[in-house]
Amino acid sequence: MTDLIIIGAGPAGLTAAIYALRAGLSVVIIEGVIYGGQMSITNEIENYPGFRSISGAQLSEAMYKQAGDMGAKFIFQKAEQVRLSGDVKTVKTHSNEFHAKAVIIANGLKRRLLGCRGEEEFTGRGVSYCAVCDGAFFKGKKVIVVGGGNTAAEDALYLSELCNQVLLVVRRDRLRAEKYLADLIDKKSNITKLMQSRIREIRGENTVKSVILEDKLENCQEVDIDGVFIAIGYEPGNDIYKDQIKMDDYMYFISDESCQTNVSGVYVAGDCRTKPIRQIATAVSDGAVAGSMAVRFILSKT
Ligand SMILES: Cc1cc2nc3c(=O)[nH]c(=O)nc-3n(C[C@H](O)[C@H](O)[C@H](O)COP(=O)(O)OP(=O)(O)OC[C@H]3O[C@@H](n4cnc5c(N)ncnc54)[C@H](O)[C@@H]3O)c2cc1C
Repeated sequence: MTDLIIIGAGPAGLTAAIYALRAGLSVVIIEGVIYGGQMSITNEIENYPGFRSISGAQLSEAMYKQAGDMGAKFIFQKAEQVRLSGDVKTVKTHSNEFHAKAVIIANGLKRRLLGCRGEEEFTGRGVSYCAVCDGAFFKGKKVIVVGGGNTAAEDALYLSELCNQVLLVVRRDRLRAEKYLADLIDKKSNITKLMQSRIREIRGENTVKSVILEDKLENCQEVDIDGVFIAIGYEPGNDIYKDQIKMDDYMYFISDESCQTNVSGVYVAGDCRTKPIRQIATAVSDGAVAGSMAVRFILSKT
């Protein structure tokens, strides 16, 4: 049995690992997608102390390497089931079962889906949720970005440097993105805003070929397109814990200042918990607290 299992290798989970490893615990980190979490898909970070500007990939690599060098054991599988009560905590993936004295959940947020016909079918075949990761596949092409917030605005600007034409589809009558981003978009000749519009369906054969767009008068038209980038935000992905850990009405974990949950030996860190600001700096802060509290908890049992 390992001392500590951490679910999620974003900034919160990796920081928690560094603190726990430094105190001599054995640590298994279970990560379902890629180390770095949301950080890894961020083009440029300008508000993490110590770096005037650093790419998300670089910062992810640095944190991952630090945790790995200190002895973290990484399992690149999704945590699918947990049993958190009692002295021995169990986390199951599709092919393995892990046991630990304490668990830190640092699973961040999951992408919000559009929910239209064709979205699931064409994900990875023209439908993407990450402009930074997939934009290069659409060089010289025509793409749609869906969303009106900062992420959608940043994605549209990023893609406008690669693609011939970018359509920005916004459900409301104005962008929610910060003004400087909205101003930059207005200056781009190859970005067209389609306000009070929505995608009803994504169509294609092997890959995306067109979308059915609906305007505010509910008129629909089919528009030829090569790619669809969905940037409509994030939500908690805490379903597998819902009968065990207390959550608020929006499914964020409830914890106290020490990242402790209602279950003894189970801590939460980062974007997955109720908190006013969700950023790398606050995720790292939670990780430091949760890692240290897990150390204290395990030492108190020995
Ligand atoms: C496009 C974008 C740009 C951003 N820009 C900035 C910025 O400039 N500055 C800033 O400070 N913040 C920025 N943020 C916010 C910042 O990235 C997050 O606040 C931070 O990454 C949260 O860290 P976390 O460790 O809590 O969660 P995440 O980074 O979300 O990491 C959680 C990890 O858990 C994994 N996971 C989830 N469920 C499971 C499971 N069941 N099993 C195993 N693993 C699982 C995920 O795959 C993920 O790797 C940005 C976010 C986005 C999306």
